[in-house]
Amino acid sequence: MDRKKNICLSIDEIKAQLVSANVKPTAQRVAICQFVLCDADHPTADEVKLWADRNFPMMSRATIYNTLNKLVEIGLLKEVKLAHSNKVMYDNNTLHHYHFFDEKTGKLFDIDPKTVKLKANLPEEFSIKQIDVTLHGKKS
Ligand SMILES: [Zn+2]
Repeated sequence: MDRKKNICLSIDEIKAQLVSANVKPTAQRVAICQFVLCDADHPTADEVKLWADRNFPMMSRATIYNTLNKLVEIGLLKEVKLAHSNKVMYDNNTLHHYHFFDEKTGKLFDIDPKTVKLKANLPEEFSIKQIDVTLHGKKS
């Protein structure tokens, strides 16, 4: 269940990524990137907004959403949508992995796909391209 913080970038790397995506690397945007790429753990946009309100009270909701969307677009963040809710969570682990959803706390944990065995006996006409797994339960 170890989380791989595989893309915790330095400030200079974040700036370079934003510039290459044609986004002006303002201090606010770089700060959001640092938070979501390094510190936060599957945050929702609302959680990023709460963090911004505490640290950068002048930051607009649009700046936050645009920055999150840009990070998804350039592949530094992945969107995770849970089947039973309309909540989108942002995932900074862009390696292939599964999730465990703790129903008690609403937290999402990364699961190494190697620890889950799946066997599909599908009719021949189905070929699998990708497998997304979210296990639901309680973490003690
Ligand atoms: Zn994840």
